[in-house]
Amino acid sequence: MIIAIDGPAGAGKSTIARRVAELLDIQLVDTGALYRAVAHRAMHEDVEADEAESIADIAEELSFEFRRESSDGDIENILYCDGDRLGDEIRTQAISEMTSLISSYLEVREALLEAQRELGRARPSVLEGRDIGTVIFPNAEVKIFLTASAEERARRRYNELAERGEEVGYRDILEEIRERDERDRNREVAPLQRADDAVEVDSTDMNVRETVTAVLDVVYEQTGGEWM
Ligand code: C5P
Repeated sequence: MIIAIDGPAGAGKSTIARRVAELLDIQLVDTGALYRAVAHRAMHEDVEADEAESIADIAEELSFEFRRESSDGDIENILYCDGDRLGDEIRTQAISEMTSLISSYLEVREALLEAQRELGRARPSVLEGRDIGTVIFPNAEVKIFLTASAEERARRRYNELAERGEEVGYRDILEEIRERDERDRNREVAPLQRADDAVEVDSTDMNVRETVTAVLDVVYEQTGGEWM
């Protein structure tokens, strides 16, 4: 049982995928974290971001496992890589930038393809990413393409940064989101696109709860409620 959730940055994939996995009590595979783990390891081994082959070798050799852990009453989905717990150290700006680069290398994507399939085959799962419904699991039982307008995604990002005390202008964030959308849709390797058979869920005018409900409705429709 695979639920694929793809979509652009800032559409709320992580939050929604986490809630759906918790509610259905199935594994959550945050595929962005795998790319981040590879970038993190490369950085620690002093491999430069343009050494695609060496980075693909790292991706090939790493082993991944997601574990659900509770902290302060919250449930977190933590990636263990070769047995090491990876937390906030894979969420820094430097890692985000390196990840964005290395995830555009075909060799790296191919090296992570089997790891993603193995994780998904092992247990009923929600996989969250960019090319799950198109490349990794083209036969997924459920495919969701989660979107929101660029303005709404910029607004959410702005609030998130403001909460952390970071001051960045709304216009700059919106500009950056538009540029990234353009790049992600037009890149040669694994461009962001909706699978023909994916159901689009637009979260622009929905809160988290409404969006989770909309996604669960799709899961119900496509699986006949078998998993709910
Ligand atoms: O989703 P997250 O922000 O953690 O993704 C980190 C980076 O990895 C992004 O640059 C994204 O484009 C890339 N990525 C990808 N394919 C995936 C998941 C993430 O290229 N399946």
